Amino acid sequence: MAGQKATSAARRPRIRQLDMELTERCQNNCVHCAINRPADDTEAARRELSTAEWKTILSEATALGCLDVRWTGGEPLLRDDFEELYLFARRLGLRVTLFTNAALVSERLADLLAQTPPLSPLEITIYGMTPKTCDAVTRTSGSFDAARQGLERLLIRRIPVALRCVAMRPTANELAAFEEWAAPHSRCPPWIIYLLDLRSRRDDESRNELIRRLRLAPDEVVKLLNRRPGYRKEMQTFCRQFVGVQGDRLFPCGAGCGGCIDAYGNYQVCLPLRHPETIYPLRNGSLAKAVTEFAPTVTNRRAANPAFLARCARCFLRGLCEQCPAKSWFEHGTLDTPVEYFCEVAHAQARDLGLLTAGERSWDIADPAARLARMGDAT
Ligand code: SF4
Ligand code: SF4
Repeated sequence: MAGQKATSAARRPRIRQLDMELTERCQNNCVHCAINRPADDTEAARRELSTAEWKTILSEATALGCLDVRWTGGEPLLRDDFEELYLFARRLGLRVTLFTNAALVSERLADLLAQTPPLSPLEITIYGMTPKTCDAVTRTSGSFDAARQGLERLLIRRIPVALRCVAMRPTANELAAFEEWAAPHSRCPPWIIYLLDLRSRRDDESRNELIRRLRLAPDEVVKLLNRRPGYRKEMQTFCRQFVGVQGDRLFPCGAGCGGCIDAYGNYQVCLPLRHPETIYPLRNGSLAKAVTEFAPTVTNRRAANPAFLARCARCFLRGLCEQCPAKSWFEHGTLDTPVEYFCEVAHAQARDLGLLTAGERSWDIADPAARLARMGDAT
């Protein structure tokens, strides 16, 4: 029996899912983008993992029990070896979720995806419902037509897609149109991303300024969220499950359960977190070590910043709030600094749900359980 137990423990998967950022490059140059480098950035391309290196990582991930990979970018389809990597991953038995803007989906690629399905809907982001809005967001002439053609190539072959769009100043008036248009095509309910992140590599303050200007005001976000039938009931259920004081733990989330590999071969405990102390260079190590030895040293970290300890560590809205080490990194270059924008959005949502009254601050609330119990009485 002891031997059997040891064998089943040894077989237990250590990673179920991995995110892989195949490239940071993209043919678009979206106004709000947190990551992109130009498509012709030869220096970025030179530093990217080679085909052979990605294949080694995919094989290692499979050996560690990985079943799902999510490929994102930049635009993953920009890689010349995309088809080769895709077929390699599928032959390993991996399910591939592809995040793309669809503009580079050719007839040939659509045929390949129809023949060898990814086993997961393609996640396609739509940047506007008109050529004018879309091309203004992507800052790329013809991007609307290219994306619609790519999407059409998938739909015609009945390849499942999940459609989403980004809510920001230029698209705020097109969200209802997006939902109506997307619903019949999308395998999952059309998804809207309401909160913009700053540049994840902290590489361009002028672009950060632009992203801040594109963000919707917290009350505007709440108003838009309320358009969706069922939103309040879902949020009440969510809050009863996930809201509560979480103390000084920095990662009360799934970070490190799988993780992410960036375009240059760095393991990260999650996709957006690129703080130098939280990345592990796979070119000098192994995925097994990254996941089993390195990731816990990151995810067990505790907050030390007095502002975090005075606010977030005592805040019962933390499960509702977008505040996390990655957002702190983008905005402040630290892991544990409260981010005012996300704090304001969480407070606006909490007031709307009846968890806070005007002027109350979440970290001062002494009776969170009673607030949660009463939530919804007035709605
Ligand atoms: S299409 Fe996506 S990756 Fe490319 S620039 Fe736009 S947001 Fe960034
Ligand atoms: S609502 Fe404010 S205090 Fe609470 S977790 Fe978010 S940023 Fe921290």
